[in-house]
Amino acid sequence: MACSFSYHMQTKVNQLFFPFKDPFSFYILVLNNMKRANHQMLREAALFYLVICVGLQLKVVCFLQPNSLPDESYLGFTHEATDFFPAEEYDYIIVGGGTAGCPLAATLSEKYSVLLLERGGVASSDPDILHENRSLNPLLYANHDDSPAQNFFSEDGVFNTRGRVLGGSSMINFGFYSRADDYFYQNSGIEWDMSAVKSAYEWVENSIVTRTDRLRRWQASTYNAFVEAGVAPDNGFILDHVQGTKIGGSTYDDSGRRHGAVELISKANPENLRVVIHATVDRVLFSSSNNLAAVGVKYHDSKGTQHEVHVKRGGEVILSAGAIGSPQLLLLSGLGPESSLSSQKIPVVRDLPFVGQFMADNPRNGVNLLVPVRLPDVGVRVAGITEIGPYVESTAVPRVSSIIPFIPFLDLIPPVNLSVVVVGGKVSRPKSTGSLNLASSVDVTVSPKVRFNYYSRTEDILQCGNLVEILRKVLETQAMEEYKFPSILVPNYFAYIGPSLPEDSSDQESIAIFCRKTLSTFWHMHGGCLVNKVVDSRLKVIGVDSLRVVDASTFFNSPGTNPQATIMMLGRYIGEKILNERATISFFEQLKTHQTCPLQDLNP
Ligand SMILES: Cc1cc2nc3c(=O)[nH]c(=O)nc-3n(C[C@H](O)[C@H](O)[C@H](O)COP(=O)(O)OP(=O)(O)OC[C@H]3O[C@@H](n4cnc5c(N)ncnc54)[C@H](O)[C@@H]3O)c2cc1C
Repeated sequence: MACSFSYHMQTKVNQLFFPFKDPFSFYILVLNNMKRANHQMLREAALFYLVICVGLQLKVVCFLQPNSLPDESYLGFTHEATDFFPAEEYDYIIVGGGTAGCPLAATLSEKYSVLLLERGGVASSDPDILHENRSLNPLLYANHDDSPAQNFFSEDGVFNTRGRVLGGSSMINFGFYSRADDYFYQNSGIEWDMSAVKSAYEWVENSIVTRTDRLRRWQASTYNAFVEAGVAPDNGFILDHVQGTKIGGSTYDDSGRRHGAVELISKANPENLRVVIHATVDRVLFSSSNNLAAVGVKYHDSKGTQHEVHVKRGGEVILSAGAIGSPQLLLLSGLGPESSLSSQKIPVVRDLPFVGQFMADNPRNGVNLLVPVRLPDVGVRVAGITEIGPYVESTAVPRVSSIIPFIPFLDLIPPVNLSVVVVGGKVSRPKSTGSLNLASSVDVTVSPKVRFNYYSRTEDILQCGNLVEILRKVLETQAMEEYKFPSILVPNYFAYIGPSLPEDSSDQESIAIFCRKTLSTFWHMHGGCLVNKVVDSRLKVIGVDSLRVVDASTFFNSPGTNPQATIMMLGRYIGEKILNERATISFFEQLKTHQTCPLQDLNP
C-alpha cells in the first residue's frame, strides 16, 4: 500500500485561518528568526500552529503500491466444487463471487462462517484478464461454457457481457474507478451512514485502487480536450464524483496489471470463509414453518452433481449474482410475479410483482476515429462530468481483432503507425427501463431474456443530443488537432470509422437517428431487484426472512460515471452493517442462535 501525503485547503474557513499554504516552511522561517531572538514562547506558538495546520490540512491518501503483484492468498481457501465437502450449515451463504460478493464475504467472515459460491473459475493470472493491453480479449473470446466473460444479446439487439469468474465483472471491465454521485445516495432508497460509506470506500481503495502517476498521451489529450470544451472545472485527480474534468482511480496499476474485487477476498478471515468455484446455484430453499424464510441453496458442480447447503438460525442467504443473475435466481426460486411464474409452472413461493422489472442499461454513443499516431496507452483514466447530464470518456482501442462487436462499426485493425480511439459518453440516468424474463424455468445456466428498451423515452434521446453537442466541442479543441490527418487540398480532417456527428445540431431527427444507429452498452446494467419494490432499505427481500440481495440489481440508477467503486463499497458497507446489527443482539440471544467456532468441514 502506498500512502501519499498532500495538503488540501479544504474550505474557505481553512483558508481564512490558515493563510500559509505550506506550514512547514512557515515553521522553519519562524524557527530561524526565533533562534536569533531566542524567544521560547514564540517558538512554541509556531510549533502549535504547525500541529493545528497539519491536523486540519494534511490528508493521508493510501492507494495500492504502483507495481504490486495481485494478492492471491485467497487461493488458500478456494476449492473446486467437485472436490468440496460443505459443512452442514454456515452463518452466511453468498451466491456470486463478484464485485459485491467478494468484499461482502470477506467482511462477514470477520465474525461468522461464510460460504461463497461462484459459478465461474479463477482467472486472475490469465494474461487476458491480468493485462490492460489485452482487456478486450475476454469479451472477444467469450465463446465457451467456462469463459470469464459471458456474452449475450439483449432483446433490443445490443451485444452485452457479464462476468462469469471469481471477482465477477470487475475482472473483465476497464478498471476506471470513481465514487458515486450525491444524487445516488439521496435517491437510492438504501440507508446510508456516510462515515461508514467513506471508510468502506477506503477499505477497497487501500487494496486494489491505483492513483495514476501521470497520464499517458491519449488520456492527457482527452483531459485537455474536455477542459477546453468547457467540461469545467479542471479537477485534477479526485475519486469523488464532481462536475468537471477529472482523473479517476483505476483497478489497473501503472504497469497495466489488474487488481479486481477478487483480491478483496484475501482480506477475509481464512478460518471462517470457504470459496467454492464452478458452483452454480440453481435455487434458493425456503422454510415456511413460521414466517417464510430462506434456509439454504441448491447448487451443482461442473460434473452436474447436486449439493444442498443450509444457513444457521440467525444467518442469511445473500444473492450477489449481479443485475442479470440475482433476479433470475429469485424467479427460478418462486419469488416473482405470480401470473408469469404460474404460466411457467414454477411453484409460487411469494408473489413479488417487481422481480425482473425496471431493468436498465445506460446507452453509450460516440464516434470512432482512426488517428495518425501510434498511441502508447489503452484504458480509461479520465472522465468529464457535465452539468447537463452525460458523462464523457475516451479510450484508445487495443489492436486485437478486425471486428469488435461491442464497438459499432469497428471493422479494421489499424496499420502499425496508426491507432483507433473511441470518444463517447454515457447517458447518465436513463428513464427507459425494460424487464427480465426466464428463458428456461428450470435451468439457471440458460441466460434469461432481457430487454432494456433503450431510447424508448424522449428524455434519453434529448440527453444523447446533449452528448452529441459536447462531443462536437471536444473534437473542435486545439488538443484534438494533432489527431487529424494532414491535407493540402482541404483543411486537416478526422478519419471517422462509422458515422460522424450529425452536422446540424438543431436537427432533432438526425440526432435521434445518430443516437439509435451508434447505440451500444456502457455495461452498467442495473435493476431487477429494486429497493422498495423487491428489497427494503437494508436490501432484505420484502416479505421473506433471511434473504438479501446485494449488488447492482438493487439500483434504480447507475452510480457515478462508472459503478464498480460503489458496488464494491456496497459489499463492504452492508457486510459491516450486518456485523453491527448482530453485535447489538443481546448476549443471551446470541448464545442461543450462534456458536462462534472455526468451520468444521472436511476440506484441507
Ligand atoms: C466490459 C465491461 C467494462 C466495464 N468497465 C467498467 C469500468 O471501467 N469501471 C466501472 O466502474 N465499471 C465498469 N463496468 C461495470 C462493472 O464492472 C459492473 O457494473 C459490476 O462489476 C457489476 O457488479 P455486480 O456485483 O453487480 O455483478 P458481477 O460482478 O457481475 O458479479 C456477479 C457474480 O455472480 C456470479 N453468478 C451469477 N449467477 C450465479 C449463480 N446462479 N450461481 C453462482 N454464481 C453466479 C457471476 O458469475 C459473477 O461472478 C464494466 C463492465 C463490463 C462488462
